[in-house]
Amino acid sequence: MANSRLSAADRAILQKCLSSSSPSPFGRPKRANSSKEDGPVSGRVRVAVRLRPRNAEELKADFDFADCVELEPELHRLKLRKNNWDSETFQFDEVLTEHASQKRVYEVVAKPVVESVLQGYNGTIMAYGQTGTGKTYTLGRLDEEDDSNRGIMVRAVEDILAGVSLKDDSITVSYLQLYMEVIQDLLAPEKENIPIVDDPKMRDVLVPGASVVEIKDHKSFSELLKAGEANRAVANTKLNAESSRSHAILVVNVRKLVDEAQENTSLGAQGFFVPTVRRSKLVVVDLAGSERIDKSGVGGSSLDEAKSINLSLTALGKCINALAEGSSHVPIRDSKLTRLLRDSFGGTARTSLVITIGPSPRHRGETASTIMFGQRAMKVENMVRLKEEFDYKSLCRRLEREIDRLLIENERHTKAMLGAENLERVYEEMAATEKLKHEKELIELSSRLDAAHAEKERVQLDLNKSQTEIQLQKEKLGEEINRRLNLETENTVLSQKLLQLQSEIDEMRRAIDKMRSGSHSKADRSLNVLKLSQSKDGCKGEKSTIVKLLEQVGIQNLLPLLKSPDEDVQLQASRVIANFAADEANQEKIFEAGGLSSLIDILQGSKDETICCVAAGAIANLAMHEVNQVMIVEKGAIEILAIKAQNVKDPQTLRMVAGALANLCGNGEIQVKLKDDGGIKALLRMGESEYLDVKAQVGRGLANFAKCESRRALQECQIKSLLLEEGALPWIVKNANNGAELICRHIEMALCHLAQNESNAEDLVTGGAFPELVRISRESAKEDVRNLAYRLVCASPVLQAEFLRFSGASSDA
Ligand code: ADP
Ligand code: MG
Repeated sequence: MANSRLSAADRAILQKCLSSSSPSPFGRPKRANSSKEDGPVSGRVRVAVRLRPRNAEELKADFDFADCVELEPELHRLKLRKNNWDSETFQFDEVLTEHASQKRVYEVVAKPVVESVLQGYNGTIMAYGQTGTGKTYTLGRLDEEDDSNRGIMVRAVEDILAGVSLKDDSITVSYLQLYMEVIQDLLAPEKENIPIVDDPKMRDVLVPGASVVEIKDHKSFSELLKAGEANRAVANTKLNAESSRSHAILVVNVRKLVDEAQENTSLGAQGFFVPTVRRSKLVVVDLAGSERIDKSGVGGSSLDEAKSINLSLTALGKCINALAEGSSHVPIRDSKLTRLLRDSFGGTARTSLVITIGPSPRHRGETASTIMFGQRAMKVENMVRLKEEFDYKSLCRRLEREIDRLLIENERHTKAMLGAENLERVYEEMAATEKLKHEKELIELSSRLDAAHAEKERVQLDLNKSQTEIQLQKEKLGEEINRRLNLETENTVLSQKLLQLQSEIDEMRRAIDKMRSGSHSKADRSLNVLKLSQSKDGCKGEKSTIVKLLEQVGIQNLLPLLKSPDEDVQLQASRVIANFAADEANQEKIFEAGGLSSLIDILQGSKDETICCVAAGAIANLAMHEVNQVMIVEKGAIEILAIKAQNVKDPQTLRMVAGALANLCGNGEIQVKLKDDGGIKALLRMGESEYLDVKAQVGRGLANFAKCESRRALQECQIKSLLLEEGALPWIVKNANNGAELICRHIEMALCHLAQNESNAEDLVTGGAFPELVRISRESAKEDVRNLAYRLVCASPVLQAEFLRFSGASSDA
């Protein structure tokens, strides 16, 4: 390959040049200080000479001749042969032999300029030389088949593309042709005469009418270049021109954002980094052939044309001469080329010139002329200046973007905050509700707990109480059991004693029977027993025996015997109690021991008439005394007695029942109760008995009743007798003149007591009692009764009237 043709010495020099930053004139430029205050740096125009290899024709025609030049690349020297023995030596910045590869030429001639452009400096690469020496080959060769043959334009743009960021930076290309002082746009051939505009600020020129095409990659540039070349050919045909007579100018504009991280860029007033951009341009100029017209062999062109064609080149030569000599006047404005290259020579650009020469001695003059042009160009000093500026537009865009971003961010934050606040509020509300709920539950729970405690305490108390009660019950039960046991023992003793007593009584009865030597009914026997016990005088022995016995046994122990299943025991017990009750002194003890209830029970329950008779007699005995009467009534004795009055046939029992009721009739407090419980009706029913003893008890009862009523009538208001309401009057009237003195006395007293109450008078009259009253007042056996009846008849107006009516009637009779 190209490198393989280099000698070891060549390679060593090349290596040295590549690695050394200075003093090699074509070494990589030191990065210019990026500060915008930096001043320009001196930069001489660098010139390399490239020798074209002999072409086919030259190989043939010049076969016998040596090349007109001899190159000493290591020494950067070129010797131009004057003749076989003499030569002139020229020093260049770089001497490129015919073996130098395109790559080597690019790296030596163009690469430092391209790097400089990427750093923000303008750059110019220009080829100058006779037609056919390889200017276009060096600069514009595309060669898509073999990459190694590609020329400087393609390689430069390739490096620029690699050196920028397509995101932030931009590369635009314009491709122009200058022919006969007319600028044509090779990218838009219709633009045929593009003006040049001076840019005094930048001390440069602008070609605003030219197309500017942005390129993004190598391929797009190659195509652009190809199209440009095609357009150039078309344009030249149209103009009847040759490419060698026109200048081709490629302008690559690079706009590059300075990397803030790496570069020391300025801060704006608000502390923002002010973006800095570097606008630089690379101008690659493929000049028209430098040969003299007369010698170039071009025919048919007018002198004017020839002048025009070379005007720009001539002007360029003049300008470079002036610059090289340091002349005060540089005729830049003489041609469009020099105007276009104003910055490249004597301006701020870093300029690299490659002069191409052919080896043929036949063109020695042209070669010499080219060499001299190069030598003069080497003397041109440029003041390289960084093309850097603050990109306020970009900053503005960036700030706008930043503002937009911040606004969006702010909105997002606000929303988030609002959301968070809402969320917080919702949480707070929820927490408050929850707390309230919990507090309520707590209160409820504690009240339930209190209630449960209270309930527990209550239950505990109840339990304690129950336990105490159970204990008491147990104790009571124990006592009861003991009592029962004692009672059973006593019962046994008592039963034995009773049997003993029974036998004694039987003995006694037999003795009495003997005495009376008469026979008696069963009822009579009971009566006798009662009589015996009631008697105050007789049979003191028996009574004292009973009393003694009871004192020994105790009435409370005797009463249970009344309930004994043995009727005999019942009877004997009843008798003993009846006897005991006959004495008023014992009655309280009987009441205390519950004897009355027992007697009433036995009267009600026993079928045995003797037992009933004895029990009724005992009740009658108790009823004799006023203190007992209320208690007897309260125990319900009247109803029981009334039932017995109806059922019992035995006259002794009837007499006892009637006697008991008659005794109760003497108590004013219980008269209403007597009437209500059927006591009076029972008496009247028994009054129908054939037995005088029974009737006498009925009469006594009614008399007692009427006596109480009349006594009350005197004290309180006079109301009609209950006896009259109960229908007692007919029985009284009927039995008033009975004949039996025992009965009559009670009835006379009853009538007198009724007559004492005027409220009864009418009833007495209508009930037929009045004649009986009159009879009593006249015929009663007892004087006090006669007098009482008489007084009553006289005192009562009703009776008095009746008496008058009665007297009149009897006198009539
Ligand atoms: P110019 O543009 O100066 O008129 P060209 O670039 O057209 O010259 O070159 C003329 C001819 O010489 C072309 O055929 C080209 O391929 C050839 N040529 C030029 N330089 C070289 C070189 N260094 N190596 C090989 N061939 C070359
Ligand atoms: Mg050419």
